[in-house]
Amino acid sequence: MSETKYIILDRDGVINVDLFDYVTKSNDFKFETGSLEALKLLTTHNFKIIVATNQACISLGIATQEEIENVNLHMKQKVKEFGSEILHVEVCPHKPEDNCNCRKPKTGLLTSAEEILNINLKGCYFIGDKFSDVQCALNHECIPLLVKTGYGETTLKNHDTSQAKVFENLFSATKFICN
Ligand SMILES: [Mg+2]
Ligand SMILES: [Zn+2]
Repeated sequence: MSETKYIILDRDGVINVDLFDYVTKSNDFKFETGSLEALKLLTTHNFKIIVATNQACISLGIATQEEIENVNLHMKQKVKEFGSEILHVEVCPHKPEDNCNCRKPKTGLLTSAEEILNINLKGCYFIGDKFSDVQCALNHECIPLLVKTGYGETTLKNHDTSQAKVFENLFSATKFICN
């Protein structure tokens, strides 16, 4: 039996289509092309999937914590039906001015997952579409992979992303990881 590995994924713009607005209802949650297949590929290759997502909409009063939890439950259910599993979801509910320790690029979501699951995420892959994902990965000594979906193209245009390998989408990133 091969060893368990962990991988961290951003949610919006990576797993599901970023609406460039908040996804507050299950109906608004649309999987990116190939993302369900990507998650299944990771599961097949013994990766345990952890999702780390900034959801400032909670602090902004646009959605309740419960609404966001319901969207995440919907995501986990659909992923399960497809034959994969999301082990754990970490949500930062804060807006930038809240100055929390969990909003990416800070690493509180990762240290929280490490404590809850009693694991170490250093050295793991971290796939995101924003520069804050790349920075968060580097801040926690993870390996950043950037996807062009969601804010990915904008991230490439506006930031020095030379420390991250770039992929079309989650599926091409996972194919790279699993090969
Ligand atoms: Mg994103
Ligand atoms: Zn936070």
